Amino acid sequence: MKQFYQQTKDQALTKLLVDPKIGLTTEQVQQNRQLYGRNQLPEKKKDPYWKIFLRSFKEPIIIVLLGAVILSFLSSIYAFRTQNNPQHGLEALYEAIVILILIIINAFLGFWQEISAQKNLDALREMNNRIATVYRNKEWQTIATKDIVVSDLLKVKLGDFVEADVRWIQADELQVIESHLTGEADAIAKNSATINQEAELGDRFNMGYSGSTVANGQGIGLVVGIGENTELGNISRLIDSVEEKVSPLQKTINKLTKTLMKVSAGIVILTFIIGILRAGELSINSITSVLSTSIALAVASIPDALPAVLSIVLTIGASKMAQNKGLIKSLDSVETLGSTSYICSDKTGTLTQNEMTATKFYDGEETFNVSGLGYAPTGKIESTTGSTAKTSIFLKGAVLCNEATIKEENGKFLPFGNPTEIALTVLGQKAGLTKEALLKNNQLIRTLPFTSDRKMMSVVIKNDTGYWLYTKGAPDVLLRNSQNILLNGKTVATQNAEAEFMKIVDSFANEALRTLAVGFRQLTENQARKETVEKLETDLTIVGVAGIIDPPRPEVKQSVKTLNEANIEVVMITGDHANTARAIAYDLGIVKTKDAKVVNGLEIEKMTDDELFKTVPTTNIYARVSPEHKQRIIKQLQHHQQVVAMTGDGVNDAPALRVADIGIAMGINGTEVTKDSADLILLDDKFTTIEKSVKSGRTIYANIKNFMRHELTTNIAEVLALLLGLLLFSKTIGQVPAGTPTLTALMVLWVNMVSDALPSFALGYDVAEADIMKEDPRDPNESVLANHTWSRVLIRGTIMGAMVYLSFWWAANIGMSSSEAQTVAFLTLVFGQLWHVFDARSSHSLFRRNPFGNRNLVLAVLFAGITSILVTILPFFNLVMGTANLPAWIYLLVIFVPALPTFILSGLKEIFGITIW
Ligand code: ATP
Repeated sequence: MKQFYQQTKDQALTKLLVDPKIGLTTEQVQQNRQLYGRNQLPEKKKDPYWKIFLRSFKEPIIIVLLGAVILSFLSSIYAFRTQNNPQHGLEALYEAIVILILIIINAFLGFWQEISAQKNLDALREMNNRIATVYRNKEWQTIATKDIVVSDLLKVKLGDFVEADVRWIQADELQVIESHLTGEADAIAKNSATINQEAELGDRFNMGYSGSTVANGQGIGLVVGIGENTELGNISRLIDSVEEKVSPLQKTINKLTKTLMKVSAGIVILTFIIGILRAGELSINSITSVLSTSIALAVASIPDALPAVLSIVLTIGASKMAQNKGLIKSLDSVETLGSTSYICSDKTGTLTQNEMTATKFYDGEETFNVSGLGYAPTGKIESTTGSTAKTSIFLKGAVLCNEATIKEENGKFLPFGNPTEIALTVLGQKAGLTKEALLKNNQLIRTLPFTSDRKMMSVVIKNDTGYWLYTKGAPDVLLRNSQNILLNGKTVATQNAEAEFMKIVDSFANEALRTLAVGFRQLTENQARKETVEKLETDLTIVGVAGIIDPPRPEVKQSVKTLNEANIEVVMITGDHANTARAIAYDLGIVKTKDAKVVNGLEIEKMTDDELFKTVPTTNIYARVSPEHKQRIIKQLQHHQQVVAMTGDGVNDAPALRVADIGIAMGINGTEVTKDSADLILLDDKFTTIEKSVKSGRTIYANIKNFMRHELTTNIAEVLALLLGLLLFSKTIGQVPAGTPTLTALMVLWVNMVSDALPSFALGYDVAEADIMKEDPRDPNESVLANHTWSRVLIRGTIMGAMVYLSFWWAANIGMSSSEAQTVAFLTLVFGQLWHVFDARSSHSLFRRNPFGNRNLVLAVLFAGITSILVTILPFFNLVMGTANLPAWIYLLVIFVPALPTFILSGLKEIFGITIW
């Protein structure tokens, strides 16, 4: 049987039952989906829920606690059986049960965090699904690539991935890269001719394969294989779902947690030895009593929640960012966004609306003004001397050399295609000229699609008078490829007419208009059919230029201002004309003067790296830039230690996006290849989304920092309170015997899992501090604990720890029992934390933020405060946790006195501007 590449186009279409005029019908799509399935490769299997649940039992802290449970059980059995002490036996049993319950709650919390982090990531991936264009029910439609079915007619253009295996039935200068299958890195030209003999994969010029990228031109292919039944499916039966990169912050925190674990293990062993030595004997009794303090210490000193909370805060941050239309592809970008110091942005579509209207044109004789904005073909065309529009070669070229269409639906005019070309189509219609009508007398032979490297687009046509090339593109580029210019109605040699022609172009550009010239030339049949693009687009006669308005997006001006206040430089890098770029940059506040410096692509070309290095700090506009220039600009900015975010929409921008610290692609107008290499996708193509994403990046980082500060402060306070007790409480005071630990193990566990974990967690969701976009970008090499975070943690942790021990000692001195004194210490610690958490949320001080700004935090604090008091009142908890009822006035003391250090330190800071605490 003949393979698809050996069949003619028509045979292939007939075999797969497709009428190319209609495309697939809805029923055919459903039938084929049932027959062949979805266009997806099977994903790697995810861990089942039970495995994820059990994973949290592998954490060191949980292992320590499980050890404690077993010891408590043993101790209980020992008390019941050997010592005949049911009271102690019951206590130990309850302790074991409560620790077990807390472990299970903790496991559920970890499980929930992991599942929601995963769900968030999955949702982000789903949003990042690729799309494709297919012809169905007589219409071109955009669908998710997984919905492509066999027999679909798939359209691809420069920058797309070929999303299925296809037999090409139309190819315009089509070239694709198939290196993933053949190892051949160069682009291969494709056509739709039949191959009559057997051919290797790499030689099947009429076939396209899933996973290839379109490097030039455009084409339409008949889908012959999808999903697993493609050549790509043959070589990779399994693909990993998007990799989960560990962010530098996660690495730092994992490392920090490990170091702290080692330190705590040392402290625990030391405490155990000291305790045993003090007890003077090695018995089950002495071991269980010393172990209790050791376990408390172990629990106190391990910031166990850090890594889990970090990953959920990052993923939730990423989801929030996506709701604001900034889709990040890996979590480490959140961090990088926070330290971005340079944003290099395209102009068209990002800073401007990408809704273009031709408002002026020069047709080689006169300049015309065009009225009427939008896509309706109504508007007056009037020359500056008062004459009305006439059919010129310029207008004919502008309409023919064009792939855009306007469709009227219920009185509305809907544009399809490239905005620049849409503007010219509308202009043609205003002058009574349509491509359809022109094609009646002109046959379209070839289309040479637009590339931003060439900055031109051409068509070859045939009519009664022979073969003709029409080219439209950037005026300066056309000038370089021209011989003559039509000026004041006469054809003049380019060198004599150039200056006057450029005057007209500059006058358009100075009004912030995008300029586009049209040229033509006659061709021989051989040239028309076979000549390369480079050779065709030369020897032109320029016949006019259009001025197209693309209004700036209104919200960008404010974004630029905000970013400048945040000490982030905004740079415009555009393919457009220098004057157009400058006029718009001035309008948006990117530059402050009307004659600001603009560096042109040609100038960059001539510069050495050293020269460019010196140029970049003082340049905010680059014009007529090609994608390769972008890479050079980024690298030089990076040599200035800048963290650079760069936008790009075309396929050739992909390498620049990879070089940038944050590569940004356009979700709507960007090509699939560019999106693939980006770190951030702007789902709405708007510049303001970059600003919002940077703000989110900064906020998430600040929240993580605050959360860590709070966690570590508490850990230090707990460890210190216990250690001070161990070292200093060597003599019996009142009713409290020597060696009584400051806090019981279960109190510490409670603090860690309830009164500390919940408010800390809420810190991760905090809103941005008011001045977050007024600060300088963070140095990316700076540690998360830099800028006095360590000193704040140490000073506050030490004071809080000392206070907890002192409260215990004071309670013993006024004659309280052991459990009462421990309860005083417990509540002092709990409320110390609950006050401190409001300070931890600010990089300045407690007084600078509205304490009710984070509702989650207020609720968490109220919950933690109330339940912590309840466990000192309810008899069951008294028995299990070793807490006791306290007189009312002591409750008041333990709630409010712990607020003092926080208020005093914050106050001193405000008055004297001290930063170390
Ligand atoms: P930016 O890089 O800011 O998005 P841009 O969209 O203007 O800017 P390009 O798309 O590279 O950059 O366009 C550069 C120039 O090429 C334009 O100024 C215009 O003169 C010309 N041009 C743009 N689109 C077309 C097109 N479809 N056909 C022919 N020439 C075009």
